[in-house]
Amino acid sequence: MHNYQAPTELLKDKIILVTGAGDGIGRAAALSYAAHGATVILVGRTTKKLEDVYDEIEAKGYPQAAIVPLNLDSAAEHDYIELANTLQAEFGHLDGVLHNASILGMRTPLANYEPSTFEQVMRVNVTSQFLLTQALMPLLLAAPQASIIFTTSSVGRKARAYWGAYAVSKFATEAMMQLLADELENISKVRVNAINPGATRTNMRAFAYPAEDPSTLKTPEEIMPLYLYLMGEDSSAINGQSLDAQPK
Ligand code: NDP
Repeated sequence: MHNYQAPTELLKDKIILVTGAGDGIGRAAALSYAAHGATVILVGRTTKKLEDVYDEIEAKGYPQAAIVPLNLDSAAEHDYIELANTLQAEFGHLDGVLHNASILGMRTPLANYEPSTFEQVMRVNVTSQFLLTQALMPLLLAAPQASIIFTTSSVGRKARAYWGAYAVSKFATEAMMQLLADELENISKVRVNAINPGATRTNMRAFAYPAEDPSTLKTPEEIMPLYLYLMGEDSSAINGQSLDAQPK
């Protein structure tokens, strides 16, 4: 799947929502989904970054995107419901969601971890995904088939010292993916999986590993084959899996 070559029209006429679409991996995924025919709903906290992605999609002649500024740290249940109502009125269904946005928090022993940061990381990385998925579920169930992709990390499978709330949030993300996959398997055409991007050249990675040479890392664009595979219908039999975007 690392070498998956997506047909140009893989996502033709699909409506796909991407969180954290303004930067890093989410930006690359939004552009890549649009390049393969999708109408992408760009969700993120910095409107200017979302506008830049919107403009790039337009300049390349891909289907027109939509911008939804939303701060996952401060959003409440009604904000997610409002978003779902807007999408319902505009599109009537949703073919895919990429839960990509997250924050790193502190890299420090749990004994010293700032409680308010712990709660913030859990809110942005976990609670927001629950609220967004719950609000969007009727739209996903209304699609002929739909794909939900969560974003995990190696520390979401085996925790390592100093990764703090981030590691806890990624274990929780794996659990949310497994729960939904199991609950939806026999009653719907919605499949649910997770991607571990692996070391990728973004701001988050540079912040976590300040001494690393970014040019040694894969770019977000280079890891897109799995993002395309899991979003498109070639993966319709895959459910409940946590997959690596880069070969080990
Ligand atoms: P970046 O920090 O580069 O991008 C994260 C995106 O999430 C940004 O667009 C950011 O918005 C958005 N975001 C952060 N907080 C909020 C918020 N409160 N509300 C709305 N949007 C928010 O990270 P990456 O691209 O590296 O990471 C993408 C995903 O991949 C994450 O889930 C991360 O955990 C995971 N991952 C990344 C790895 C890597 O090596 N890069 C490795 C393993 C996992 P803004 O630009 O406005 O700040």
